[in-house]
Amino acid sequence: MTELLGFIAASRDCGRSFVDAVVPVLESQRTEAKVDLYNPTADEVIGGLFARTFRFLQTFVLDFHLWADDLGRVVLRLMLESLFYLRFLTEQNRPELFLAFQKYGIGQEKLYKMQLRKLLEEGKLEASADLREFIDSDSDEEISDELVNVRLKNFEDLRKVAIEAGMKDDNVLHYQPESTVVHGHWPALRRYYLEMCTEPLHRLHLQPTFRLPSLDPQLLDQAFRLFMAAYQLWIKRYGLEDRVSPLVDQYFDCYSAATPPASEASATVDHTEGTTEE
Ligand SMILES: [Zn+2]
Repeated sequence: MTELLGFIAASRDCGRSFVDAVVPVLESQRTEAKVDLYNPTADEVIGGLFARTFRFLQTFVLDFHLWADDLGRVVLRLMLESLFYLRFLTEQNRPELFLAFQKYGIGQEKLYKMQLRKLLEEGKLEASADLREFIDSDSDEEISDELVNVRLKNFEDLRKVAIEAGMKDDNVLHYQPESTVVHGHWPALRRYYLEMCTEPLHRLHLQPTFRLPSLDPQLLDQAFRLFMAAYQLWIKRYGLEDRVSPLVDQYFDCYSAATPPASEASATVDHTEGTTEE
């Protein structure tokens, strides 16, 4: 197990170096990107989606808990969803769609505020200053009033967004199966949270397991693949050059050097002992 701990510590150092190197590069590229200061909606939505994929990539390289198959897949699915939106929106590149994306989210928030207000009125929720302030804050401030409907169909069906973004296969290969993990449906329970009882007379029933799932560092590859796809869309839109690929290569060189021999850490690393390393 000390070997595993050593690997985790060494690979986290690789992750730290990567983050330290890539953040200034992204910040410098952000200043190079020409954004529309008079109508910033499209750039803001793109910037937010791209930064979100980076945020999740950071957690992957810094925290080995995300190499656990169940949690890692949850976060990969969040990255993939942002990539669907990013690709759909940048390829369509229609101002009204960026606005619709914003409106969809604001509409959802508005609906939530209405529900909270109702709970307050019914006395089911205790009022606090923060809560009042949130409920009374104007959702419509960001965009003109009549545009905010509670629902907008463009962004309700993610499958359609994925198809329009030319990512139908990613939807089938990743987004759908990972849905099982996100929602904790039966196949996920069987795979991650149950184990076969070894008591001979117990007829092989499944019982809860409280061990951590095995680690699968290959999830890292997927996290990088998703982030780099988002990065390529981002630099293409602003005509920037790729300055991140060399840093990714450096990261994987560092990571490979940290990886123990194949017999110790092949595709999956058994991770049954508690690790207090953080
Ligand atoms: Zn049993």
